[in-house]
Amino acid sequence: MPRGNSTGPAGQGAGAGQGQGSRSQGGDRGSWNGAGPGGQCVCPACGTKTAHQQGAPCFEVACPNCGQPMRRE
Ligand SMILES: [Zn+2]
Repeated sequence: MPRGNSTGPAGQGAGAGQGQGSRSQGGDRGSWNGAGPGGQCVCPACGTKTAHQQGAPCFEVACPNCGQPMRRE
């Protein structure tokens, strides 16, 4: 029985990877970028700068010069 050198169809081994897009949700929250300790508050009205106090947002701090709410510089 002569067997022909039949090259069968090459197995397509490239199975489409069923990637389960499981992105890690959540993660570490609480990493508040922006208002870190230190820094300064600046008055938008008169330009007075004060040291930013931790726990007191600048917009809750009144300018010592003119009384306007400060801004985070
Ligand atoms: Zn001011």
